[in-house]
This record gives sequence, C-alpha cells and structure tokens, in this order.
Amino acid sequence: MQKIDLIIKNGLLLTFDKEPKISSIAINDGKIIEIGKSEHLEKKYIPTKTLDAEGKIVMPGFVNTHTHAGMIYFKGMADDLPLMDWLSNHIWPAEGHFLSADFVRDAALHGCAEMIKNGITTFNDMYFFGDEVAKSAQKVGIRAVLGEVVLDFSVANCHNADAILAYSAMMHSKYKEDELIDIAVAAHAIYTCSKETLIKSAELAQKLGMILHIHLSETRQEVKDCLTKFGMRPVEYLDSLGFFQSPVLAAHAIWLDENEENILAKKNASIAINTSSNLKLASGFDSFATYLEKGINLSLGTDGVASNNNLSMLEEISLTSKLQKALNDDPTILPAHQMVEIATLGGAKALGKDKEIGSIQIGKKADLITIDITNLEAQPMYNPFSHLVYTLTSESIKDVIVNGKIVMQDRKLINVDESELIDKAKFYREKIIAFRNGKD
Ligand SMILES: [Zn+2]
Repeated sequence: MQKIDLIIKNGLLLTFDKEPKISSIAINDGKIIEIGKSEHLEKKYIPTKTLDAEGKIVMPGFVNTHTHAGMIYFKGMADDLPLMDWLSNHIWPAEGHFLSADFVRDAALHGCAEMIKNGITTFNDMYFFGDEVAKSAQKVGIRAVLGEVVLDFSVANCHNADAILAYSAMMHSKYKEDELIDIAVAAHAIYTCSKETLIKSAELAQKLGMILHIHLSETRQEVKDCLTKFGMRPVEYLDSLGFFQSPVLAAHAIWLDENEENILAKKNASIAINTSSNLKLASGFDSFATYLEKGINLSLGTDGVASNNNLSMLEEISLTSKLQKALNDDPTILPAHQMVEIATLGGAKALGKDKEIGSIQIGKKADLITIDITNLEAQPMYNPFSHLVYTLTSESIKDVIVNGKIVMQDRKLINVDESELIDKAKFYREKIIAFRNGKD
C-alpha cells in the first residue's frame, strides 16, 4: 500500500474524450496518479485525505484567461457607462488615488477567494503590484499567471514602460520555481503602448519564454484609430511589429476582419472571450463561427469584476453560448460540451499550460472542482455538460482542489477567513465613497 495525499471518491467524472462516468481519482504530490474504481484505489493507496464526491460532478477547474483581480473593490462602483467614460471618469481616478501595495494585496486576496468560490483554479491577470497579487494567490492557494500591466505613462509602482518591463523580468526570475505562479508580459493595449513599447514587450516575452497578454480590438473606436494612425487594423499592426513571435493571448478581440483572423490562426494566438464585459460596456460582439472554422484557440475570461460584475465562469459559458447561437441564427453552434472545453482546456492551451492542467488526465496537475447535482434545481439530469452550461450556478460548486490541495471544502474556504475579507471590503467601500464625495 502506497501513502498518498488525496482520493476523490465516486464522483461523476467529466473528461472530454469519454462518456462521463462514476470514478475515483488518486492524487499525490499535486498530480493525478490514477483514475479508477474506488474499491481498486482503496486497495492500493492509503490517502491522508478522502473527499467524498458522491452526487457530484468532478471536472477540471475553470481557467479564467482575462482578469484584473486587484479591481475587486471597484465592483459596482460605476456602471451603465461607455468604456472610455467609465475608465477616464471613474476607474482611473479611483485607481490614481487608491493604488498601493496594501490595497492591491487586499483586493487580490478577495478576488482570488471569489474566484475559488466560482470554481476557477487558474487565472490570468493583468494589473499593478504583481508581487502583491502573487502573495494573495499563494495565500488562497490558486494558480495564477500574472502580468504587470505595461503602459507608456507613470503608474503607482513604476515610472515608465521600461521600469514595468524590468519589474516583469524581476517577477519572472523570482517566481521561476514557484508551483502556482507564472509570469506573463501584459502590454495593456495598442492605444496605451507606443510602437517601441510593444516591440520591447514582445522582445522580453521572447527572451524569457513568456506569453504576451494584451487587450485587443475591444472597441470599434480602437480599430478606427489604428487605421487612421497606422493605416492598418490592430492585428495587422501588431503583426508588423513582430508581436506574434511569442504566444499571444488577446483579450476581447471582437472587431476582427478576415485577414486578422487568418493572422491569429496562423500565429497560434489565442483569444480570451469576455462576453459579460463586452455586453455590459456595449463594446460590440462578433460571431465566433469563423474563429472556430479557422481553428483559433478560444478561451474564456470574466474580465475585471468592475466590468462584469461577477466572476462566475458558469455564467460566462451560458451567456457566451446563447449569444453566439443568437448572433449566428444557429442553435447548434458551441454545444455545451465544447463550451465547457473552452472554459477549461481552451484556457490551459491559451496559457501554454495544456500539458499540465485543463483536463482530468493521469500525470496532469490535480486542479479539480466538484459540483453538487443532488438538489431540486438539478433534477432531472441527462447530460452533465448541458447542466453546466444551462442549469447550474456557482452556488452548486462545493469543493475546489488546486495542485492537489483542497482550497475550498463544502463551500468553505480553507486558507482564508471569509468574514475578514467581507469586513475589509466594507472598510474599503467607506473609503471609496468618501473619496468620490470629495471628502478624502
Ligand atoms: Zn481587461
């Protein structure tokens, strides 16, 4: 008998190549070491912990490929506005006043905790004070890819783009051996980074083998301005700078023409779809039919909670699927099974981590979630993929395992005190209200 860390027993296992079936998973050293019947595994292993998943779906955790975890305290602060008005008159002034290491660490701790509650086991973030976000992610026990947002102006912790890129390189070496943290280069957008900055970002990503994360073709205005300024559309412009030499993860990408789609497909770039954010900011939407035809890797992001305003991946898959059916006048596009794959394995691929995470496979990291299917609203169930996309909400997500460790059990966070996070959020709410009323 071999001693191991964890057995997850008798769950309804979702894999992408086989029919869902009741099975158990043996986990050791952060990895899935065997999948089989519980009687068989119990004869072979002595687990330190056993998690009973009877009456639950067991699936890979969601991979959220576009977030700004440090924005959590701006949730619901300003809504119902166009992107530039929302940014210039509400978000940027608040960020200008509040951003500090402490603020970002606190906000990111809440953000990471909220992501765990939504079944997210990996997130790809773009924000300031990445070292603080890393500390919060480690504390909560969530996997993260962190990019320090590269901008051409002075920000709270760096005075220019070169300093931000130097910070990214420092982060890369600091977290090189870390089990949970990876570093990306996160150029904010083509309208906030000069040509030189975009080239330097691409060069750094290539030199250190990092992915490039960028907001791209989010609004019609961005495309218009790019055409006026450079005589090219955004993807063509980035291509002309050699940006796609490294793997690129483009957030939004909803205003692409055919040539741009061809470039993204040819260069193996991925897209982070942010349906809630795009709908809420009325940034526009594109049919993904041609993206799928061309084989562009799609993944799913919640975007920052200030523009969503929640971190539910179940809501994202539901909304995205329905929006695409309506846009294409085709109810067969993006069936439930494919939507779930996009939100898990698609995300892993987008982050260059599909060999490690994104599906339940022997040898992969144990980043798993369990979802209760015994309640009234879940009855009857014929197809778990259908339930995930069209029926269940995040409340049904019960247990979350990251890197083989239980970080939420029966909806209770293991590594952080939820009531402390709630008190902190109330504390910052008061401060933000005072600032907005001109009293701070
Ligand atoms: Zn964003």
